[in-house]
Amino acid sequence: MAFRRLIPVAVACVLTTAIATPSHASRAAKEPYCATYKCIALTFDDGPAEHTETLLKVLKKYKAKATFFMIGNRVKKNLKMVGQVAKNGHEIGNHSWDHKYFTDLTSQEIYAEVRDTQRIIKKATGKDPVVFRAPGGLYPDEAREIVAKFGMVQVPGTVATKDYIKDYRNVEFLTSKALEIAEPGAVVLMHETVKETASSLPTVLRELTKQGYHFVTVSKLLEGQELTPGEVYPETPPDDSDTPEFPDGTEG
Ligand SMILES: [Zn+2]
Repeated sequence: MAFRRLIPVAVACVLTTAIATPSHASRAAKEPYCATYKCIALTFDDGPAEHTETLLKVLKKYKAKATFFMIGNRVKKNLKMVGQVAKNGHEIGNHSWDHKYFTDLTSQEIYAEVRDTQRIIKKATGKDPVVFRAPGGLYPDEAREIVAKFGMVQVPGTVATKDYIKDYRNVEFLTSKALEIAEPGAVVLMHETVKETASSLPTVLRELTKQGYHFVTVSKLLEGQELTPGEVYPETPPDDSDTPEFPDGTEG
């Protein structure tokens, strides 16, 4: 009796394994993380800066990953800190060498800005950045070609808290702004140089976590898409009023 009962159980086990394993495995291999989860990519520009460490602590507390678009000459002065950001699992993007607007530069100058920043970030993190954001969101045609040569895509962001506007630099205001513009698949443009943005982050992360968001790097957000170097990602809805459109420099 006992023997007879064992056979069907064993067969059932084999069948279950045979059916379940391949489908589960293929799903894990094919489906990008953000096809399953409600993702958002927070991005912080113009660092490394004095609030970088504060940001790292808050992000860690909420198990959040972010993307830092860094300026080459600042990376050079803070190699260790930049290495630390990368070790924490965040992505580091190229944001030019000294934040000059590309519309004011020659092709050769743009090339040098991008190249030198790639080199210094590689030195700090061991990795070549794959995402690029131009200072002030200004992308002349030459910039696209140069960014493509370095194998990067352009990521201007899909929404912004507009913390580059001095009058917006108020913790409550920036907190509600961030919560208002958050949407699945968004790339949120903020600045790690703005103290009020750093101070708004704990509430922003807490509230968005409650709403079920997963905080991922830009590359993770774009996972599964076929990317053409030099092109802009993610594709932005044409009528989005929160699309960054103003220069984003620290000084203005
Ligand atoms: Zn900037």
